[in-house]
Amino acid sequence: MTVKIIHWGLGAMGGGMVKLLDSKKGCQSVAAIDTDPGKQGKTLAQLFSVKSDTNVTGDAAQALASDADVVLIATGSFTEEVYPQIAQAIEQGKNVVCIAEEMAYPRQQQPELAEKIHQLALDKGVTVLGTGINPGFVLDLLIVAMTGVCYDVKEIKAARINDLSPFGPTVMRTQGVGISPEEFHSGVEKGNVVGHVGFPESMAMIAGALGWELDEIRETKEPIVSSTHRETPHVKVEPGMVAGCKHIAYGIKDGKTLITLEHPQQIHPEAEGIETGDYILIEGEPKVNLAIQPEIPGGIGTIALTVNSIPNVINSEPGLKIMTDLPVPPAIMGDIRNMLKK
Ligand code: NAD
Repeated sequence: MTVKIIHWGLGAMGGGMVKLLDSKKGCQSVAAIDTDPGKQGKTLAQLFSVKSDTNVTGDAAQALASDADVVLIATGSFTEEVYPQIAQAIEQGKNVVCIAEEMAYPRQQQPELAEKIHQLALDKGVTVLGTGINPGFVLDLLIVAMTGVCYDVKEIKAARINDLSPFGPTVMRTQGVGISPEEFHSGVEKGNVVGHVGFPESMAMIAGALGWELDEIRETKEPIVSSTHRETPHVKVEPGMVAGCKHIAYGIKDGKTLITLEHPQQIHPEAEGIETGDYILIEGEPKVNLAIQPEIPGGIGTIALTVNSIPNVINSEPGLKIMTDLPVPPAIMGDIRNMLKK
């Protein structure tokens, strides 16, 4: 018996999961769902040069009727969007790993939907996990893990400084790249420039794990105004235009900022001497200072975390889980079946 996987969403992330699983022992992609007519009717072998000759379908009910252990959902960012997919997968008795940013801690912004997911999962005896590089790992689980060596934590400051250059037009638009600072500010007001999705989830995961009850989570979004010419295949930025979004979140208790999470995202940060990296500073006893340079690549990290979480999800007790509920997922280097308890 192999571990059987259904893929729901075959974009940059879902397609990467298909390829990664193809290289692992003891597992098999048995069905795949996508709404893109350009993918439907093709096999995973044709789309991703893998061994599986599974056909991609738009008919979720048909795909979910396949015998499978886990459904990997990589279709959207918000709990409301992915809820119908999660519910349908649970109804068919499948465990779920989902990379929607809000699913990293769905109780924060969608407590009612989160409770519904939890109850459905309990009824069907399956597990649902939200994961991803961020939220899901760098600015939450990794921070929580680093506090494990502390007697006392007074304050946490962390930053993920990355390069947006490889991303497509949607990311450029939602980060405000290539517009004027005035257009950036009005875009933030109108909700077109969103910056990073996931700060409330990361804050809730850290505070919840440490037992801090935050009074308030405050977020600021400022334009990163370029002083140089920067260019990608999708956008041109002249001096004075916006190269990215400096998005910061503050977790506040009794008027004091306990957690500061920064995620400045821009194209070609090296153009102005900025080194990318993931940085965690814990002010406490002892002081902990972690620097990862360059930053952990977001795409690879998300694909790996999702696949590497499959054994945890199969082994877990039923219900809705977040990353701090389950063991830290290791890379799967042997047969995936050897990592299963039952
Ligand atoms: P993408 O746009 O490349 O791919 C999405 C795919 O899902 C497309 O093939 C699309 O046709 C398909 N799809 C969309 N809605 C669908 C539906 N209802 N049913 C079936 N198929 C559907 O996006 P991506 O880069 O693969 O990322 C997927 C999502 O994951 C995005 O919302 C992204 O923001 C999120 N994400 C989260 C993290 C994290 O750290 N938590 C990291 C990466 C991506």
